Amino acid sequence: MTQSPPVITLVHGDITDQHVDAIVNAANSSLLGGGGVDGAIHRRGGPAILEDCRKLRASHYGRGLPTGKAVATTAGRLHARWVIHTVGPVHSVVEDRSDLLASCYRESLRVAGELGATSIAFPAVSTGIYGWPIDDGARIAVRTVREAAPASVTDVRFVLFDTHAYREFEKAL
Ligand code: ADP
Repeated sequence: MTQSPPVITLVHGDITDQHVDAIVNAANSSLLGGGGVDGAIHRRGGPAILEDCRKLRASHYGRGLPTGKAVATTAGRLHARWVIHTVGPVHSVVEDRSDLLASCYRESLRVAGELGATSIAFPAVSTGIYGWPIDDGARIAVRTVREAAPASVTDVRFVLFDTHAYREFEKAL
């Protein structure tokens, strides 16, 4: 039996407004907060998220969450049950780190499947402070979600903050 792919939707807006089971955070490996989408998620979600992150650091990730991995916490006050934190690679012109970026989407979807989430919202991981070109970042995101979404995850949203990012995701779709 062939597995039907998830419905992929593009949203122009703020990921912290999304009503989904799981919101993905483009975190840094410290899991202790940062700028960009990470800052927005912690601000709107409140201190419960950071509290969970601190526990994870103490119990499993003493050296931080490795690049390309994903881990879930509470979503605090967000309209979601979980935040899935993933650490994108910093873009490099001398080394191809595309597999690590794909891994962020793959691992986040795997964690979502394990949690029983059916809907998930992604930001454009690594395309802000970490410098990944948005056109390439969009292609990797769309391709990986199509390949790797577990059957239980039926609703995948890419939430793009600006018009340019939204257009690049439209092209990639
Ligand atoms: P990274 O460090 O992985 O590059 P950033 O948070 O700097 O993470 O940026 C990732 C992407 O998220 C960028 O395209 C940025 O424009 C976008 N972004 C920032 N804030 C939000 C938000 N509140 N909702 C959705 N996307 C956001």
